[in-house]
Amino acid sequence: KVRVRFAPSPTGGLHLGGVRTVLFNYLFARKHGGDFILRIEDTDQNRYVEGAEQYILDCLAWCGLNPDEGPKNGGPFAPYRQSERKANYRIYAEQLVRDGYAYYAFDTTEELDEQRQKTPNFRYGHENRSFMRNSLNLSAEETKELLDQGVPHVIRIKVPADETLHFVDMIRGDVSFDTNLVDDKVLLKADGMPTYHLAVVVDDYLMKISHAFRGEEWLPSAPVHILLWEYLGWKADMPEWVHLPLILKPDGNGKLSKRDGDRLGFPVYAMNWTDPKTGETTRGFREMGYLPEAFVNMLALLGWNDGTEQEIFSMDELIEKFSIERVSKAGAKFDFEKAKWFNHEYIKRSEVADIRDLVFNILKEKGIQISDNEYFEKVLSAVKERMIFLQDFWEQASFFFEQPATYDLNAVKPKWTEAKTEFFNELIKTYEAISGSEEWETVNLETVFKALAEEKGIKPGELMLPFRVMLVGGKFGPGVFDIAVLIGKDETIRRIQKALI
Ligand code: GLU
Repeated sequence: KVRVRFAPSPTGGLHLGGVRTVLFNYLFARKHGGDFILRIEDTDQNRYVEGAEQYILDCLAWCGLNPDEGPKNGGPFAPYRQSERKANYRIYAEQLVRDGYAYYAFDTTEELDEQRQKTPNFRYGHENRSFMRNSLNLSAEETKELLDQGVPHVIRIKVPADETLHFVDMIRGDVSFDTNLVDDKVLLKADGMPTYHLAVVVDDYLMKISHAFRGEEWLPSAPVHILLWEYLGWKADMPEWVHLPLILKPDGNGKLSKRDGDRLGFPVYAMNWTDPKTGETTRGFREMGYLPEAFVNMLALLGWNDGTEQEIFSMDELIEKFSIERVSKAGAKFDFEKAKWFNHEYIKRSEVADIRDLVFNILKEKGIQISDNEYFEKVLSAVKERMIFLQDFWEQASFFFEQPATYDLNAVKPKWTEAKTEFFNELIKTYEAISGSEEWETVNLETVFKALAEEKGIKPGELMLPFRVMLVGGKFGPGVFDIAVLIGKDETIRRIQKALI
């Protein structure tokens, strides 16, 4: 059975690369009728950050990528927080020692520092382990004595010298590593907590994970994991490896980092993240006014495509079409313009009912009160195709709710004539004569406008822009007659009058 997991360490905000890993896990699980597990890898107490786990859960919920099993909803392999699974790891670490694949190391921090100073690029491994204070060099009695005395120690994996390790990655194909370049990683720390390396293997095994998706940055750790799968006797159950391509800076020069976002003015996190220690907030896509569907669709195409030109996919389509074969090996450049395009498309295609509350809340935060719901929805429907972010509503639509404060006179002035003033004075009368809301509608307003222009011998084109500036203040907004219909007869006439003075 397909079982996949997202295994974040709760150390801070969720980078968009992390969300993409979630997404690919999720799509793969849904496609194959499998399970998607969220496991919190919180064994590194020094890096633990308060609130980060809740933040991760909130991000997944916002994106609509909720796990089937996890710390919140539980599941058959609970607990899903590694700090709560502590007892498991020692058992396996000791099994490895007994079987000769790992050893106790009693070196103090000072001793290690000393070695590091003596030997540049010191690596605790086959070349150096014989100089150190560990159970490979001590007698069984000495080791036992130190353990009985409770002398602080770690357990390290014994990586063999001169071997080539092979494994198959579903994206990269055959990958090999020279074991001489891999050090004897700590598996169990002095505080009894496992390191990431041991915990990830033990839990992937115990939780029956079939495919392990993770970012390419974890590839260098893979040899340690492969050895552990082998040494623990679990090789037959090892998951398929899927190392996802990096998400690169817009110029393709290296991995996209949180700092790039700050520097280039776009978010890198899914949602706002406030560091509890510094109080500093890093912006997220959600707060910037992204629809989660747009964000998810954009992420899907960072390193994957379905082989056609299609870019807009519903979640169901993504599930149907996703395949690891079509994930690229090469890193995917993040393109903020493209990210904006996705959001624009999604807002444009949204039903008003689906975005009205979101926009309404943004207005409320800005202190803008809107009392007429029906009117608000009509306006939203008229301007949504002009919005890139949900936040753009007010900029695009404020003139529907209040008279323009200023007019873009440059757009009108140079070609102004007495005849035009006369036209608008007449227009007021013509529009005033329209009675009944039935008649006050787009086509009729336009027909009457054009007929009057013809009568006055002025090209309608020369009058439309001034009319727009009168109603809107500038050269933007939806169709000018649509605007007139929405703001209503009285307001339209009032604005023409005001502008003519
Ligand atoms: N805990 C690791 C992380 O923070 C998980 C890597 C993996 O999936 O193996 O990304």
